[in-house]
Amino acid sequence: MSATLPAACAHTVEILPRLLHAIRPPLALAFSYQTEDVAALHLLKQLGVDGVEIFTLNTGKLFPAIAGYHYEVEKFFGVKITPYHPDGAEEKELADLGEFGMRASLDNRHRCCEVRKVRPLARALSGKNAWLTGLRAAQAVTRQNLGVLEYDEKNHLIKINPLIAWSDADLAAYREKFSLPENPLYARGFKSIGCEPCTRPVRDGEDIRAGRWWWENPEHKECGLHLKKINN
Ligand code: SF4
Repeated sequence: MSATLPAACAHTVEILPRLLHAIRPPLALAFSYQTEDVAALHLLKQLGVDGVEIFTLNTGKLFPAIAGYHYEVEKFFGVKITPYHPDGAEEKELADLGEFGMRASLDNRHRCCEVRKVRPLARALSGKNAWLTGLRAAQAVTRQNLGVLEYDEKNHLIKINPLIAWSDADLAAYREKFSLPENPLYARGFKSIGCEPCTRPVRDGEDIRAGRWWWENPEHKECGLHLKKINN
């Protein structure tokens, strides 16, 4: 599998089985409809890794196009992607935000992400021994100090970021080599996929995540899902 891959991808193919060998199932893979997540899922399938729940956080604010892509990915890989939703009662506490109130202040945005993402994530990770993500350091300034192996202090779990050292070109080469299904939003100018009210297409020359929470400073652009490293 690794013969004609870019060096960073081949390295991941080599080390991921060893990393996972040391961790007992059940594990979870976070799937947020990015090319990175599709690559991470493909790696797991190619390596024959079992005991991994593939989950997504259905915030209730996703783009309509996501539903069709969700189905396409399930079909392509022959897997089930389990959606975790916000708690209905907690969601009502966000009623004052209306449709776009999360843009009015950092506090509002964090309240919304807490209810729609952070708490559902905690439910998705409950009972798991570790989780995997498609995070890459090249995606954003907030991710440049992340390592392949971290400790998620909030959820008290090992977190594995197999693609952390992949460049944009590495990811594109991997997707192309295996003809992986691509989120249709990329063809509309999006370079990072998030909730509809908080994500816009990216212009030429802009950072990959420039379209996420575009009204905020770059160092604030995380939703509370990704915390601190313990090892490279
Ligand atoms: S990304 Fe936006 S809509 Fe989605 S949970 Fe966060 S604030 Fe709410």
